[in-house]
Amino acid sequence: MSLAARLQAAASAHAGRPALSIGGETLSYAELFAAAERCAARLDAVPAGARVGLLAHRSLDAYVGVLALVLSGRPYVPINPKAPPERQSAIAAAAGCGGWLHDDETADSAQALAAGHGGVALAVDPRADGPRDFTAAAARHAYVMFTSGTTGTPKGVAVRVDNVTAYVDAFAQIAAITSDDRCTQFFDLSFDLSVHDMFVTWEAGACLFAPTEAELIDPVGFANRSGASVWFSVPSAPAMAQRMRRLGPGVLPGLRLALFCGEPLPSSLAKAVAAAAPNAEVWNLYGPTEATIAITAERLDPAAQGMPATVPLGAAYAGCAAVVVDDAGLPVPPGGEGELWLAGPQITDGYINNPAEQAAKFLATTIPGYPHNLWYRSGDLVRNDPIWGLVCQGRLDDQVKISGYRVELLEVEEALRRAAGTGEVAAVPWPLNEGGSAEGLVGFVCATSVDARAIAASCRELLPPYMVPKRVIAVEALPLNANGKIDRKALRQRYLERP
Ligand code: AMP
Repeated sequence: MSLAARLQAAASAHAGRPALSIGGETLSYAELFAAAERCAARLDAVPAGARVGLLAHRSLDAYVGVLALVLSGRPYVPINPKAPPERQSAIAAAAGCGGWLHDDETADSAQALAAGHGGVALAVDPRADGPRDFTAAAARHAYVMFTSGTTGTPKGVAVRVDNVTAYVDAFAQIAAITSDDRCTQFFDLSFDLSVHDMFVTWEAGACLFAPTEAELIDPVGFANRSGASVWFSVPSAPAMAQRMRRLGPGVLPGLRLALFCGEPLPSSLAKAVAAAAPNAEVWNLYGPTEATIAITAERLDPAAQGMPATVPLGAAYAGCAAVVVDDAGLPVPPGGEGELWLAGPQITDGYINNPAEQAAKFLATTIPGYPHNLWYRSGDLVRNDPIWGLVCQGRLDDQVKISGYRVELLEVEEALRRAAGTGEVAAVPWPLNEGGSAEGLVGFVCATSVDARAIAASCRELLPPYMVPKRVIAVEALPLNANGKIDRKALRQRYLERP
């Protein structure tokens, strides 16, 4: 059954139950799907199967828009309205959209994108009456998610409908969500972990609780006020709550599941969460957008002794594989480390219009002992620990996580270069979190002096807020490592750890 058919079956089975709550408004399954069907009927103005950019954020319209696109068989391309116009335009150019859905606040942006890149701009408008009959196309892709790209422009990952249903089915074997659950929706729609929130929740007939922008600042308070039973966030969220002294023992008594994904989960933080949510199972999920949301999972044993600094990544989902390989693409023996390769029904079709990157990351090959013949190279350096299994050791490239967001340092450096007017720049993640992810970035420019404010302002025109360097420092020279590359670690040690 397609994702649309599965969601519609859940909607009829749970018609009178709450499906979505945001900003004090709650829609039942019948109301949410009626609104989505009205929007889908208007989408008949967009060619069947065409991608549609969705410019909506933390509003009822945003969710109605996603559902309308899934029901009508048009892949959705979430574009964060907070991203600067130049970045929205770069995504629009790469995505090749046939239409644009917007909410009350984003009509101008949608019209600008339609004018610049073609396609019609349509309001989601869930309250407007209208026909509910729409033509559904059998779409190959459910969505296209754009992530930071090494060349300076974001790259789009096309995720099939069957990748998503494979994920939902595999996750159900890890933890069954029921219609009594109340699930959080903290992730931006432009982050693929939001796909888990929406479709795992709605297939189960449970209710999704989405905080408004203001409520997002205090996720613990929001979860408690919502009576949440299922929490899903990046580890940075409880880490921030801990810094604000909002994660004491027993503060989240209503949770039965606390799920984390998107960046390394420090073991000490996981244990603090287990103490804060004494009735919850704590899970560390791992996976890149290219392998659909998450592909391995480990349940925390809060009593375990001698755990590595970050919670292990756990076992691959049913039908999937996660294998640490050496430079020759062969599994490393226990105790060895190497790149983590991923396979199975969640491996996506990969990058749109980017054959070079596609060829480098998606390999049509086999690994002895595994039936799969398509592997995604994650770029994650992982130890095959004889006791703890897969343990994250960092990245093999220049990709970092900033508060859970995936960032290519090369993309930030490209923006810095344009802003500073010199080629000699570096972006350094700082301050670092315990697990190796970071809270922000510092820019370095090789110059006698810099106008840090002007550079930051120029970066803000190109990059989403979390990618903009919080400080810019002028340096005489950029240190190089043994390979002749910029030594970011040396910059960090010299200017940030001991300024
Ligand atoms: P994204 O495509 O934004 O989901 O980012 C995927 C990347 O995030 C992975 O390749 C890892 O580098 C990192 N990541 C995701 N989940 C975890 C985790 N549980 N532990 C360590 N790193 C993770």
